[in-house]
Amino acid sequence: MTLDEFRTRAEAHKNDAGVAINAAVDATALEAARTQVWSRTIQQSFSKALGELPAEDRREAGRVFNELKMHVDGVLEERQRAIDATQRTQSTSQIDLTMPARARWRGGKHPVTLVIDEIVGIFRELGFTVALGPESESEWYNFGSLNFPPDHPAMDMHDTFYLGEGALLRTHTSPVQVRTLQRSAPPLRILAPGMAYRVDPFDASHAPAFPQIEGLAVDEGISFVDLKATLTHFAQRFFGKTRTRFRPSFFPFTEPSAEMDVECRLCEGVGCSACKGTGWMEILGSGMVHPSVLEAAGVDSERYTGWAFGMGPGRIAMLRYGLPDIRLLYDSDVRFLEQVAE
Ligand SMILES: [Zn+2]
Repeated sequence: MTLDEFRTRAEAHKNDAGVAINAAVDATALEAARTQVWSRTIQQSFSKALGELPAEDRREAGRVFNELKMHVDGVLEERQRAIDATQRTQSTSQIDLTMPARARWRGGKHPVTLVIDEIVGIFRELGFTVALGPESESEWYNFGSLNFPPDHPAMDMHDTFYLGEGALLRTHTSPVQVRTLQRSAPPLRILAPGMAYRVDPFDASHAPAFPQIEGLAVDEGISFVDLKATLTHFAQRFFGKTRTRFRPSFFPFTEPSAEMDVECRLCEGVGCSACKGTGWMEILGSGMVHPSVLEAAGVDSERYTGWAFGMGPGRIAMLRYGLPDIRLLYDSDVRFLEQVAE
């Protein structure tokens, strides 16, 4: 090994190292290049070559080696700066400050849920609590306990979804009356919201599955006056100052029975297509709880009396939001629901 050969080897390594370092495109590749250009093998080969030189040339060779080392370290440093700068530009260019902010998607309550919440809120102020019952009912709770005669047309297969073995999908929320009276002794005041099912076509005003809300008040000395006063108070809270009227009706589980109408919101009682020219809109069915319903639930009908009502929150939502077709409430069309969501 001569000094010139040593110089040539150092020059060759300078070139190899430069190529390897400048080929690195990111921090990981640069670290690999750093290890590679100063590997143990390379260091050993240089110190071996130094040892093979004549003694008078070693000082000059050491200077050449130091120069090589400083040069390579300089290239490494420069490459490091270049990679850092590229990463900084890349991470800043990913943030586009001119983009519109991402709108936060927020769910809203369905119009029927809003109506139920509001009804429950008004009655809660009058001391009513919420009671729930099963949607799959027995024939006895759905019909028998509610004073339906055994041959009542509502019990027909064409009207009711039977599940087999005496079970059916409840056709109204009224079974909750009997279930609650069996569980807790009067006085009680409850509201029972929930789904009910009937074999109906799915059209503009019918649906085979529909929400209903039931109300029940039982105590000593409750009369029809309490029913009228409470339901009139409710109608005026819900619909605003409006006239109401009660029309005689018939339900197996109430006696006497009445349907309550509120003055048409659209024509203010003059008569329009929405109210079929009558000026009134029917909103609920009600009546004094039939003594045999109280007896079926194990309540002494000589001592206690009560009143009950049933209302369709879907129908109420149609009135409130002026909907022409009940199917809008089932479509889950966000464009429609957004208009009424709160
Ligand atoms: Zn009208």
